[in-house]
Amino acid sequence: PADRLKGFEKPTVWQEFTPLAAQMQAVNLGQGFPDWPTPDFCKTAAVRAIEDNQNQYCRSAGLPDLASALATHYSPLFGRSLDPDTEVTVSVGVSEGLFAAIHSLVNPGDEVILIEPAFDIYAAQVKMAGGTCVYVPLRPPSPSSSTWSLDWGEVAAAFTPRTRLLLLNTPQNPTGKVFARSELQKLADLVRAHPRALVLSDEVYENLTYPGHEHVRLATLPGMWERTLTLSSAGKTFCVTGWKIGWLLGPTHLIRGVMCCNQYVQFSVATPLQAAVAEMLLQAQKPYMEFPSYYAWLRDEYMRKRTLLVDALRTAGLEPIVPEGGFFIIADTSNIQVPPRYLGESTPASPNPMSRDWAFCRYLTLEAGVAAIPPSAFYKEEHKHLAKNHARFAFCKADSSIVEAKARFLRWR
Ligand code: PMP
Ligand code: GLN
Repeated sequence: PADRLKGFEKPTVWQEFTPLAAQMQAVNLGQGFPDWPTPDFCKTAAVRAIEDNQNQYCRSAGLPDLASALATHYSPLFGRSLDPDTEVTVSVGVSEGLFAAIHSLVNPGDEVILIEPAFDIYAAQVKMAGGTCVYVPLRPPSPSSSTWSLDWGEVAAAFTPRTRLLLLNTPQNPTGKVFARSELQKLADLVRAHPRALVLSDEVYENLTYPGHEHVRLATLPGMWERTLTLSSAGKTFCVTGWKIGWLLGPTHLIRGVMCCNQYVQFSVATPLQAAVAEMLLQAQKPYMEFPSYYAWLRDEYMRKRTLLVDALRTAGLEPIVPEGGFFIIADTSNIQVPPRYLGESTPASPNPMSRDWAFCRYLTLEAGVAAIPPSAFYKEEHKHLAKNHARFAFCKADSSIVEAKARFLRWR
């Protein structure tokens, strides 16, 4: 492999835990993908687009119908009129959108600030582009803070004249933190104080926030539209994580670089699925299942699932940190003793010494029959200890899966 892949040869956390869950026939509360059928209006829209013969390459920056639908959908949310031709571009999910954005903005030696725990693809993509990651960890709720919080001294110290990007994720994976307007304001102040600094705001969970927590788009803060690329995708909102239809929204001068990169990377994104998402964005505004919109129904579903999983985790003697948004729960596992044989193991994805959270998740998958993800995968080496008493559980699962997990926890404890 080329030098830029050095350090990425070992399997990822997903390559270890998704097959392990399948092999053990565990209830998979690990990887975040819905395990129930996709809503009918989404499936119908995709089938219709294929039958309509919308099956060839399309405009590299996105099917015009989807770019227009995105501009119409987001203009009121950003409080400005988005130009579908120059301020919107389509990507192969947020994953590839981030890759194109990072490659269009980061020069070798540029610094990129990551807020830990940070979704694992961020650091890898920054390093592949030759950037240097600068990590700032969130601390879990404590008697002095009701939510995951940043040390503002650490954040300020992370910004330097070499800072090129802040990579923000709100609602956040894996903590479920929804950044408050006051926190975003402080981040925006630091970005504006550094002339080269820009923001990539990963908002894939934008439609999943729970009562008391509002999703605030960083790009709507004063002076931030010019400095921010906002990314989202259809995967989480429409329960179609395998479609990989994503998008970036931002000012022309930043979108232009992403379009330039993408014309040589993906060239064109799956046409019928783009056509379907354009249609779904329209449908989703309409009344759905006795709710005023699909989004209202989705939020209500996830609120119920969150309650179910919180209850199941408590049954197991785990202490869930109730999330403000997204579909993951970090639970404190320190009440449970991990058998020494698990702590002494090593696997290709977690060479010796295995961290406690990794050993805990293997123990749970193998002996309770419930899979979870060790959050140390989302920290740099020196910070992995911060996750030692945590495990991440997904509630984007059928009620029956969560109920079965609870039954297994009861048998196990
Ligand atoms: N960002 C975050 C925070 C995620 O959790 C995910 C889920 N895989 C992604 C990006 C990737 O999104 P997509 O499937 O649209 O590539
Ligand atoms: N975002 C999902 C998760 O965090 C899926 C991750 C992945 O497949 N890479 O579980």
